[in-house]
Amino acid sequence: MAWNRVGHDIMRAVTDPYALYCIALGHAHDAAQLRERTVDGRLTLVITTLAMVSASGLAGCGERCGRAHPADITPSLRELADADGAELRSLTPPQAAALGALYRTQTAAGYLGDTVLAACGAALVAHAENIPLLTTPRARYCYVTGRPASLATRIEIDSVPDAGDHP
Ligand SMILES: [Zn+2]
Repeated sequence: MAWNRVGHDIMRAVTDPYALYCIALGHAHDAAQLRERTVDGRLTLVITTLAMVSASGLAGCGERCGRAHPADITPSLRELADADGAELRSLTPPQAAALGALYRTQTAAGYLGDTVLAACGAALVAHAENIPLLTTPRARYCYVTGRPASLATRIEIDSVPDAGDHP
């Protein structure tokens, strides 16, 4: 419940692919609040192209949440990307080069894949802009070598819906 602890004072944050998946669907309480705040512009949610690509390919939130996940979340992602508070971001060339180096340390440690790459990219943007990185418990493996994690303040949003929450 890290998000609840930090509260609603965050005005700007970048999201990794797992958090983006949850926010786009309003999947669990924290994500639903973040989506609402992005839609009405109270929160500027920075979304990298890589996170968008990676989240589009996720089959679910990755937790054993017991909820049905839509077969295609791209409509929800597009809707979120069009929200007042959404800010789409491509990496600058120096960021892209730094991302390659960062990803190399992850692959050397055995952590591969588009979600890892996208999470590293989001961490770089968080570092460059000095804003927090929204993530979920499921995404911890993306930061396990410590290098991406050291770049940014991570806020783990609760990705498992409570009983009574809407998915
Ligand atoms: Zn789920």
